[in-house]
Amino acid sequence: MKEVLLSEALTAEVASIYAAMEADYDTVAKAIKFSCDGCPDNCCDSYFQHHTYSEWAYLFQGFREQSEVKQQEIIERSRRYILDCTVAEAKDERPQVMCPLNEEGRCILYKHRLMVCRTHGVPAAMRRPDGQMLNFPGCFRCQEIVKKKYVHDSEAPQMERTPLLQRLVAVERELMGEMIHLLPRVKLTIAQMLIQGPPATAVSHCERPGIKTNV
Ligand code: SF4
Ligand code: SF4
Repeated sequence: MKEVLLSEALTAEVASIYAAMEADYDTVAKAIKFSCDGCPDNCCDSYFQHHTYSEWAYLFQGFREQSEVKQQEIIERSRRYILDCTVAEAKDERPQVMCPLNEEGRCILYKHRLMVCRTHGVPAAMRRPDGQMLNFPGCFRCQEIVKKKYVHDSEAPQMERTPLLQRLVAVERELMGEMIHLLPRVKLTIAQMLIQGPPATAVSHCERPGIKTNV
């Protein structure tokens, strides 16, 4: 297996996409007068799976900046997270388990948190590659604000995720190369990513010129 590493340029592009997401999020949140301050909930226990090698590799850059002791703590919490999710799924329930990167309500890899973590909360729209339009109403608290403030939900400002997602797809293509469709699809929780280690691929390096490896 060879580790998939983001080049400097791709690292900068992921950071730039994430910064744009934050800016767009803030614009919509400001227009709605919405913030997480004082919320009794913490979305970091929401169950999400993530789908790109790029975000996985970027997450690992942040993980590696942690001390060895902290990394061990995170791995231990990730193990427990996976076990708790398995128990919930065995009962046919959607897991609701605190993310292993959350400490006392705060994300300890904030700079490296994933796209879903940056977009959940405000209303958003996204066009899928097959053309279908998806609308996200925002979190329960944002929906309450929207209902009070606007006659119809459709009047509320939305975050347009499509261009940012397209940029992320472009990073993914450049990172994984032309044979990306032959590689296993990523469908992992953050805990599963952390337990599996950094993204790696069994496909020969010479077959995928876009990939840099650590061997
Ligand atoms: S996104 Fe919504 S539900 Fe989540 S913490 Fe913020 S206000 Fe609360
Ligand atoms: S990565 Fe950070 S922001 Fe995202 S769910 Fe985990 S703790 Fe929360």
